Amino acid sequence: MRVGIGYDLHRFGPGDHVLLGGVRIATTRGVVAHSDGDVLLHALMDALLGAAGLGDIGTHFPNNDPRFAGANSRALLAEVVRLIAARSLVVANCDLVLIAEEPRLAPHREAICAHIAADLGIGRTQVNVKATTAEGLGALGRAEGIAAQAIVLLQDGDEA
Ligand code: MG
Repeated sequence: MRVGIGYDLHRFGPGDHVLLGGVRIATTRGVVAHSDGDVLLHALMDALLGAAGLGDIGTHFPNNDPRFAGANSRALLAEVVRLIAARSLVVANCDLVLIAEEPRLAPHREAICAHIAADLGIGRTQVNVKATTAEGLGALGRAEGIAAQAIVLLQDGDEA
């Protein structure tokens, strides 16, 4: 078994929605990002790549590469899933934490979990997504941006 951790943060900026786990959530601000700025999927991809010993998303999808401008994070995740599968690794489970004063996760949690389970090709019970606020402390607490953490456990395909 192999474990990996991921973290991502994006600053709020102009816009009227954010993407979390591929779910479009209407907000009064968007996030500043080279890609679509989906912090949950970015943290998840880094956890997957870390567990597989494959570096990080910056290595695979450089944020100065115009090919990834506005990139759909679910499409990038699909590429990461291919890399994992090519090494005969399967996801045992993943756990994600959104750290944000806004938007609220709860109304969107099930849709986000369903996307992640589908994208990883695993069952809904193998995916957990939760949220916390920063209690008003620091930049996240001032709602200047949103962050996410993810942890993933991979198994060798023949153990699964
Ligand atoms: Mg990111």
